[in-house]
This record gives sequence, C-alpha cells and structure tokens, in this order.
Amino acid sequence: MSAFIASSVLARSTANPRASSVSTRVASTTGTRAFAKCHGADSLSARDALGGSSRVPSRTSTPARSTARFGVRALDAAMPFDNEARAAKRLRKLKIGIVGFGNLGQFLAKRFIDNDHAVIATSRGDYSDAAKKMGARYFPDPDDFCEQHPDVVIFATSILSTEATINSFPVQRLRRNTLVADVLSVKQFPKQLFLQRLPDDFDIVCLHPMFGPDSGKGTWKNLPLVYDKVRIGEEQPRRERVDNLLSIFEDEGCRMVEMSCEEHDRQAASSQFITHTVGRMLGSMELEDTTINTKGYESLLNLVNNTSNDSFDLYYGLFMYNKNATQELNRLELAFSQVKAQLFDRLHTLIRDDIFDIDGSSPEQLKAAWEKAGETMNERGYKERLIDQVNSTGVIGGSRDEPDRKGAQSEAPSR
Ligand code: NAP
Repeated sequence: MSAFIASSVLARSTANPRASSVSTRVASTTGTRAFAKCHGADSLSARDALGGSSRVPSRTSTPARSTARFGVRALDAAMPFDNEARAAKRLRKLKIGIVGFGNLGQFLAKRFIDNDHAVIATSRGDYSDAAKKMGARYFPDPDDFCEQHPDVVIFATSILSTEATINSFPVQRLRRNTLVADVLSVKQFPKQLFLQRLPDDFDIVCLHPMFGPDSGKGTWKNLPLVYDKVRIGEEQPRRERVDNLLSIFEDEGCRMVEMSCEEHDRQAASSQFITHTVGRMLGSMELEDTTINTKGYESLLNLVNNTSNDSFDLYYGLFMYNKNATQELNRLELAFSQVKAQLFDRLHTLIRDDIFDIDGSSPEQLKAAWEKAGETMNERGYKERLIDQVNSTGVIGGSRDEPDRKGAQSEAPSR
C-alpha cells in the first residue's frame, strides 16, 4: 500500500514539478524503502521503485529548486549516476591471488574474473597460457606473486601438498593484514596450519565450496559454500573484505553455510568421503550405459562421473586429513558385509530347501554324504558348496513362500 502511495505521489510530482516538497520527500525515502521491504530487497534503486526511468523527473525540464530537493533524497537510493554507489562498487573489486592453479584453482579463477575481480595465480607447474586465456596474470615465482600484494590469497593446493606449500611460501612479502583463505575439502587441518604458520595480523577464513568443476560447471545456485571466519580483525575494512569475498559466492546463488571447521569435518566424513568412496568403487566396476537405465542407475552413473575426474590425491586427502574418515570407512565396510550376509543367508536357506526337495536328504544324511566325500562341515566349506551348487545347477528355490522358509531356517542343522 505504502509503495502504491509512494509511486502515486511521485507520479504526481513528475507531472507537476511544483508539487509539495514534503510529499516528494516522503515519497522518495519512505516510499522507496517500503517498496524494497514489500519485495524483500535489501536495497532498491529509485528507478526500480518508480517502475522505470521514464518516471524519474528530468533535470532539464524541472525547475532548479525542486530538482535539488528530489536529487538529494534520491542519492541514498543508488542511482546510476550516483558516484557514491560507483565508489562502493570499485571498493568491492578485489585482487585475488590463487596458490595452486590446478582443477579447482582455475575453475574458481574464471568465476572471480566473471565477477569483475582481478586474479593473479602461482603454482608448481606453468599455467601461463591457461591464465592468459581467462584474463588472469600468472607468476611462476611465489615471491613475484606475493609482491603483487593481493587483497586475498586463496590456497587451492592439494590437501597433501598444502603444508609444504605454506612452509615455503614467502608470506613476509605479502602486505600486512592480508586475508588468507583456503578451499581444501577438509577444514580442521588448514585452520590449524594457518593459525600456526601465518603472522598474527593476517586474517583467516576457511572455505569449502561443496562443488567443483563438474558439479558446478553451470549455475552455482543452491550449491553449498561452507565458511568459517577463523580470525578477522576488528577494523571495518577487514570485516568488509571478508564479506566482499563471500559475496562472490552469495551473488552466484550459493547456499551460504557458516559452520565451524570441526563440524564441517564431522559432517563431510559421512557425506562427502562416503560419496567419493562409493563413486570410486562404482567407477572401478566400469558401469556402462544401458538402453533400460532406471533413474536410480542414472544417478549412480552421475556419481561416477562427478567423482572420477577428481585426483586420487584429493580422495586420499579426504581420508588422511579428516580424523572422522576411518570410522566412516569402517561403517561402510560393515554395512556392506551385513547386506552381503543377508543375501547369502537367504541364498543358503533357499538352496537347502531345494536340496531337501530334490533328494529328500535329512541334514544328517547330507552331512554324512559330504564328509564321505572328504569335506568338512565348517561354515566356510558349507557356504562355498552351496554357492557352487547354485552356479552349476542354477537351482534357486522359489517354490516355497516366506513363512515356510523361515520355518525351515529355524530347523536348520547346527554347524
Ligand atoms: P588436487 O589434486 O587436490 O590439487 C591440485 C593442485 O595442487 C594443483 O594446483 C597442484 O599444483 C597442487 N599440487 C599438487 N601437488 C603439489 C606439490 N607437491 N607441491 C605444490 N603444489 C602441488 O586437485 P583440485 O581438484 O585442483 O583441488 C584443489 C583443492 O581444492 C584441494 O585441496 C581439494 O580438496 C579442494 N577442492 C576440490 C574440489 C573439486 O571438485 N575438485 C572441490 C572443492 C574443494 P600443480 O598443478 O602446479 O602441480
């Protein structure tokens, strides 16, 4: 309603530039804010609030006094000619230095450049051409890189090489108060490393884009970006700088998740590490497209696709540098054994039932026959024998219904 009133008043003032200055003032401030509030916007330009530039009073056709009043009120609403807004935008442009210009380093660099930030990079290999192609500057020598004084330095090195890279990195050549970040897929490890190795006056933010060149090759909408502001100085520009960096991800549509590095690693072990493990297992099975793919099978193929391009170093890092990973791997192994045991127990019952159906042997007769043939009735020999029988005869029951089988199971001979 107030937005409607605001635009009506402004429309009147446009038609009649001599309209009450009080009304104009109310409309240009209250109206704009009310409109922004109604539409859930944090900020809104006066042009938007008015529904288009055609309704903004023209400088030339409006008498000087009323233009001045309207103009002053419109300033805090970020008009296109507003120098303040332009200056603020300029401030938001960061010089971002990326250390480790591999798969993820380049992927992020492209998006930073698309968002009007300047990117410089350094890495062990020579990525001059790749950098040039995307509009970044490449410095093979880390000293030269640091002397460019980036606002932010992001470590996108492999988890395994990060410690050695930081140890030999010439941080003393960076500007004091530089913001240092990482994008490693584990978080406690770089956090501790940064706190131990970086000068006290450096700011630290740990990031983890929960996506990469494959899963985030299109939009980043709703893809999670986990961040932990580990140590940020009190001064306003330092707080703005980290927010500025985070806003790149936010503006790209990422789901921003503020979370401690410790909690990240706990959750990532049971989600990300398991995903990579299963993806690798399925990948080594060389699953193929079929003409009758189900949706479930399609998602397995996608999983293989999304994890197969990641380096083994990355996967190994997820395991080695997340203290929760071993436990999750054990749980996965246990779950697999349990599922397999369920199958084999059922198989065992079905085969035994069929054996009884075919030759009418009692468990004792069967045991005696096998022992005569030189076989021991231990569990292993028994199961192997059952499986051999299925493989050679193709006999799998099906003639009996579930309650019967359960009944038969309870009468099973003790082994
Ligand atoms: P990666 O194999 O984990 O890391 C490759 C990068 O590490 C390259 O820049 C490489 O430099 C550098 N590196 C490897 N060994 C090195 C060594 N001994 N000394 C110095 N540098 C070394 O692959 P990535 O996918 O690009 O991942 C980079 C980081 O991002 C990792 O920490 C990973 O956990 C994280 N991350 C990856 C993804 C993803 O989807 N790929 C997503 C989120 C986070 P050179 O190429 O110059 O040798």
